Amino acid sequence: MAKRLLVANRGEIAIRIMKSAKELGLTCVVIKSPKEADALYLKHADEVVSFDDASNATSVFLDIDALMGICRENNIDVLHPGYGFLSENPDLANACKENNVVFAGPKSELIRDMGNKTIAKEKAVEAGLPLLAGSAGVVHSYEEAEDIADKIGYPVILKAAAGGGGRGMRIVESRDQIEKNYKSAHAESLAAFNNGDLFVEKYIPSPKHIEFQILADMHGNVIHLGERECSLQRKHQKLIEEAPSPFLSPQKREEMGQKSVEFAKKIGYDSVGTIEFIMDANANYYFMEMNTRIQVEHPVTEMITGVDLIAWQLRVAMGEKLTLTQDDIKFQGWAIECRINAEDAQNRFSPETGIISQIIFPEGEDIRIETGVENNSVVTPYFDSMLAKIIVRGWDRQNAIGRMDRALLNFRIDGLKTTVPFSKLVINHRDFTLGTYTTKWVEDYYTDIMLENPVDEMIAAHAAVYLYHNEFSKVASDTPDFEEDSMSVWVMKRRLNS
Ligand code: ADP
Ligand code: ADP
Ligand code: MG
Repeated sequence: MAKRLLVANRGEIAIRIMKSAKELGLTCVVIKSPKEADALYLKHADEVVSFDDASNATSVFLDIDALMGICRENNIDVLHPGYGFLSENPDLANACKENNVVFAGPKSELIRDMGNKTIAKEKAVEAGLPLLAGSAGVVHSYEEAEDIADKIGYPVILKAAAGGGGRGMRIVESRDQIEKNYKSAHAESLAAFNNGDLFVEKYIPSPKHIEFQILADMHGNVIHLGERECSLQRKHQKLIEEAPSPFLSPQKREEMGQKSVEFAKKIGYDSVGTIEFIMDANANYYFMEMNTRIQVEHPVTEMITGVDLIAWQLRVAMGEKLTLTQDDIKFQGWAIECRINAEDAQNRFSPETGIISQIIFPEGEDIRIETGVENNSVVTPYFDSMLAKIIVRGWDRQNAIGRMDRALLNFRIDGLKTTVPFSKLVINHRDFTLGTYTTKWVEDYYTDIMLENPVDEMIAAHAAVYLYHNEFSKVASDTPDFEEDSMSVWVMKRRLNS
């Protein structure tokens, strides 16, 4: 008999999970909450279970007992948590085990250990991954944080050990700012994660965020599927991602990939997972954290490797052996993802709610749409603001950028404002074209006014793109080892800007 899957999530990721699950022959069950009774994901399911959480402050997707009740009543064999919600909650993985439900994720102990950034860092350093200077574990007072910061030098970042989703972090520029920031980060972390533990880390002012995708099974097989660059962020939250990273040399990719695999092996990792690194302008990399779930940006990896990560996540959870080896992983082309959020990019990304009166997605070769909405969908304030993702692949980076540009031009959404104009601007900006953008780009360069005159801005941007790209590729090809020397990218950027 076909196995039954409960998708303990909503929106685009619920639909994405069901696509792979159905190909594996699983019967897909989803949960309908009165908070969004007409949501698109409900239409993709084989069966819909209703759960009345309208009067409840907690969503059903955050309620382990409710989820286990649904599993029992519906003879569920496998549960997929998606991302967000309880996807990194070790208690959910444990509850599944107790109820004889396969959890599509790693062992509970791994979720617990990697969910605590100080423990994760300890394990990372044991496996030979480089760390940023900082406290050895949690600091218990602001005075202790001051002592560490004095030793490692400012700026530092105070981070919540249990943090996630870009929350519970404070950048501290000088000693007199520690006390205030320590107290507010502690309070925020306690409220958000029910854990106020903080640690101190050296703050890298303008870094790259580069992460490696891991795929492992229960039988000790581990491979990596290369990196994604996720440096285009606002308030520590990712907005645009690409694979591969324009900043990594083949040698660095090999080295970081291998080290990521060694780390995953050392901790006994047994699912899909992501190892996040921060990289400075000299291409020094440091372990930041590990996410023990499928990530929002997983499609860019799928686009260039042809590997269905969610299918494998389900298969390895059900005990299957990995049949892919590291040599099977070949990278083809370049992929970019733009997250489409219901946020007004011209007004400090303020949240937008309302009814989508019309939505038309771009179509064509190598354009992939992951959406949680359709015509007449109601966008409520109850859930995450991400409505959809546009992912494209090109045969090289320039081709991918051109394709994303067209995809965004052919994307139409009426009824509320989204981050589409922001994405258009970014992918046409020379810093994106050159691949020199860092996690500080939005803060340093982006202003709401840039979107006020989109037409002029676009024409100017297009002109700049072609000019700069030609200039850039000429310099790059004249200098065969230029990728090795990452500083040269910065030098080149300055040269081109002057
Ligand atoms: P990704 O690397 O997959 O983009 P994000 O950090 O953006 O990861 O998180 C993905 C989703 O999960 C977002 O919707 C984010 O708000 C949510 N999220 C991440 N961590 C947590 C957490 N600890 N608690 C609640 N939500 C979280
Ligand atoms: P989360 O669990 O919220 O994803 P991370 O530790 O992955 O937390 O950090 C989120 C983002 O914050 C990173 O992608 C990066 O942009 C920024 N960040 C984190 N640590 C540092 C650091 N030491 N220096 C500079 N930026 C950092
Ligand atoms: Mg992170």
